[in-house]
Amino acid sequence: MNDCIFCKIIGKEIPCEFLHDDENCVVFRDIHPKEKTHLLIVSKKHIHSIAEMESGDAKVVGHLLQMAQKIGHDLKLAGYKLQINVGKDGGQEIFHLHVHLLSKSG
Ligand code: 5GP
Ligand code: ZN
Repeated sequence: MNDCIFCKIIGKEIPCEFLHDDENCVVFRDIHPKEKTHLLIVSKKHIHSIAEMESGDAKVVGHLLQMAQKIGHDLKLAGYKLQINVGKDGGQEIFHLHVHLLSKSG
């Protein structure tokens, strides 16, 4: 867990501007944006992936989706795509649960 880049960002060991920060998650821009707007909604709890959720973690995932709704509204996005990569073969590179929010607007 100590080597986890997202834990370091959450712990402010790596500087990063947060668009949102609450008890359960942070939101920041993807370093390599694949759309005009490309945000990462990241759980504060280190959960490896959807495949490794434990009891109680579903609440966290629900919160991440609620944050997507809030951000979409706050940034007045006309539409967006949410993506969760699961496991290496699912394209996951950072093994700390996060939702990609991608939009052609913003
Ligand atoms: P995954 O493939 O795990 O679903 O997505 C990881 C995402 O994190 C990638 O889109 C990658 O560009 C982004 N990323 C990796 N390292 C950093 C970083 O240090 N800062 C930020 N803001 N994004 C990162
Ligand atoms: Zn982590």
